[in-house]
Amino acid sequence: MIKNFKTRFILKNQLTNDVFEFIFELIEPEEIEFQSGQFMMLDVLTADSFPQKRAYSIASPSFLRNKLRFCIKLIEDGVASTYFKNLKIGDTAKFQGPFGRFILDFASKKNLLFIATGTGVAPFIGMLEDIFEKKVDRKIEMYFGLRYEEDIFYQEILEKFAKEHNNFKYHLTVSRAKNDFKGLKGRITEYLDVKKYDLKNTQIYLCGGGEMVKEVRSKFLNAGFEKEEIFGELFYV
Ligand SMILES: Cc1cc2nc3c(=O)[nH]c(=O)nc-3n(C[C@H](O)[C@H](O)[C@H](O)COP(=O)(O)OP(=O)(O)OC[C@H]3O[C@@H](n4cnc5c(N)ncnc54)[C@H](O)[C@@H]3O)c2cc1C
Repeated sequence: MIKNFKTRFILKNQLTNDVFEFIFELIEPEEIEFQSGQFMMLDVLTADSFPQKRAYSIASPSFLRNKLRFCIKLIEDGVASTYFKNLKIGDTAKFQGPFGRFILDFASKKNLLFIATGTGVAPFIGMLEDIFEKKVDRKIEMYFGLRYEEDIFYQEILEKFAKEHNNFKYHLTVSRAKNDFKGLKGRITEYLDVKKYDLKNTQIYLCGGGEMVKEVRSKFLNAGFEKEEIFGELFYV
């Protein structure tokens, strides 16, 4: 059920130059029920304009009920980004939610393909924590695309997941990596072999920049995948 939440900002973790985790403790109500993959709307209060709202995917798992973790890229001069930059530990913040249909179909047994660019990885972190906690044994493959090596984050946690869970395979691609970069250089679409995936037995989740989401969705639709099995969340166009 969608509710208003009063929260307290309790922790900030810097992940890269401009990507941060922000963690909020719920004050009223004290707990939230949501499905991993969903997002919250934040009331952005600014000194010089009317309050605005911004959407943020929940990066924490659904079994964590009393806190909300978000993974946010701060955009130069962005309205909400400026609000986050100025946020002090102990400040209160208001959210509404949970919203969205970018959620895992836990009833399905199909393989999962997760594709994220930038902070589009946020909902997948919560989903993966839920999947591993529930001991779901579906095959999961994930592509995570970033632009520069300096942009790399969540590498440790994703590699740890891959090491600890045989059903999870993870690939990082860096589109503008330097020549000596040891990993996959280029965009996700250069490595994604659509023919490799079982048409009738794969669910595809895409999250991040609009260009990637639209391009990858078209690739799978053109290859004959059902549109009902392709889920997308666009952070910006
Ligand atoms: C359902 C949903 C979930 C979202 N979840 C997240 C999330 O988990 N983490 C997150 O960082 N953002 C997320 N976003 C984007 C977020 O809502 C804001 O758009 C973003 O934080 C910029 O807000 P702002 O007020 O700082 O910038 P604004 O003042 O609104 O202007 C920012 C400009 O930057 C562009 N922009 C927005 N996001 C990005 C980006 N990531 N990279 C490059 N350019 C961008 C916009 O197109 C716009 O031109 C989500 C968006 C949606 C619709």
